[in-house]
Amino acid sequence: MTVKTRFAPSPTGMLHIGGARTALFSWLYARHFGGEFVLRIEDTDKERSTDEATQVILDGMKWLGLDWDGEPVFQGARQNKHIAAVNKLLNEGKAYKCYCSKERLDCMREKQRIEGKKAMYDGTCRNLTEEQDTPFVVRFKSPEDGETWVKDLVLGDVCFPNEEIDDLIIMRTDGTPTYNLAVVVDDADMGITHVVRGSDHLNNTPRQIQLYNALGLDVPQFAHIPLIHGADGAKMSKRHGSVAITEYREKGYLPHAVNNYLARLGWSHGDDEVFSREQLIEYFDLAHVGASPSRFDQDKLDWLNAHWIKASKPADLVDEVNYFLKLDTSNGPALVDVIPALQERSKNMIELADGARMFYVAPTEYQEKAVKKNFKEGTWALLDTFISKAESENWSGEAAHQWIADICEAEDVNMGKLAQPIRILIAGVPVSPPIDVTLGLLGKDETLKRIKTGIAALKS
Ligand code: GLU
Repeated sequence: MTVKTRFAPSPTGMLHIGGARTALFSWLYARHFGGEFVLRIEDTDKERSTDEATQVILDGMKWLGLDWDGEPVFQGARQNKHIAAVNKLLNEGKAYKCYCSKERLDCMREKQRIEGKKAMYDGTCRNLTEEQDTPFVVRFKSPEDGETWVKDLVLGDVCFPNEEIDDLIIMRTDGTPTYNLAVVVDDADMGITHVVRGSDHLNNTPRQIQLYNALGLDVPQFAHIPLIHGADGAKMSKRHGSVAITEYREKGYLPHAVNNYLARLGWSHGDDEVFSREQLIEYFDLAHVGASPSRFDQDKLDWLNAHWIKASKPADLVDEVNYFLKLDTSNGPALVDVIPALQERSKNMIELADGARMFYVAPTEYQEKAVKKNFKEGTWALLDTFISKAESENWSGEAAHQWIADICEAEDVNMGKLAQPIRILIAGVPVSPPIDVTLGLLGKDETLKRIKTGIAALKS
């Protein structure tokens, strides 16, 4: 059997950290087995579903590199299949039309509340023989006794007594099928073998299993992933960082760092914390997904981000650096050559891009405090000597570094007396990667141009 999983978000909101983790686990499971991973946009709630939300979900998935097979499937476009399933159940006497008015149902629930009973449909229309000429919903005839077992790959076997499951509405008064019905029809039709989703759906699963059985469809395997809690143990909310996954990009996180972090949020592989994408695919299994909620840990995410910024191949960082740089880099050194100079010193991609900017944009201002501190009487002469040296000899970063050392030694001053002024003139601030690397990347012409422009600006 080829494994086929899906991610089935409702485009009624953003793709947040919990949804992204569900998508990741589902994707990893399929990729681990060389199976298929599909994306189904559950846009049946027309009022709350928006194209923007769909786009945010697609963008988030793409950014994380969770590629799906084939085109995304839109659930709304499959309504005929859902209606056909409802009619099949009606024809076979496995579902019925319920004419109960809202008032009647309110009254029923109130009575149940007073009697301390669980609120559930009392089956009034279950055995009606006459059709009525009033609006109706269609309810599924749920078995009255026995039990429904969810054999969950993460939570283990979970038993639901059937008497606690009431007759579910599978089609609304307006003729639209409901979530539980649509999801069963679609998962079966799309050949989904493993339904990986958040444990907030666990209570739907016995209902869905009953529907599979009634429709004569194969029941897939289920894996319900425990929710993510904030560091304080409360359900994850915006306050805890549960923002759209794309906002992690804005904050300078690397997609792989987010994936690595999310994978460990609930899944374990010994004591390992750091996994490459290939390792995640190789090691991932549902057996090692824990059954209790995981706690979101911002420090660990930050640590993994810094780790992956250092450990990634420069070429793999180019897209993210460009995302923040937003400028033409063709007039300067290749970004892949600049990135290694900054990987060690950057905690996030914003810092890395900020560090790279100086190689493409000459300063127009020079930090006042730094100028005051580093430009003294003798500075101009040191700079002049450096310029003459550079103009008459072969340029390289190492050579430039050596000239600075020699010039300073001859004057019996420490290297910072010349290196810092040069930094300020080429970057506007007294910080840059090591001076040999920086000057090597910037090149002779650009370095000298900036130094001369800077001297003129500071002297005027
Ligand atoms: N559309 C549902 C949701 O976004 C998920 C359904 C499922 O995974 O079965 O919560």
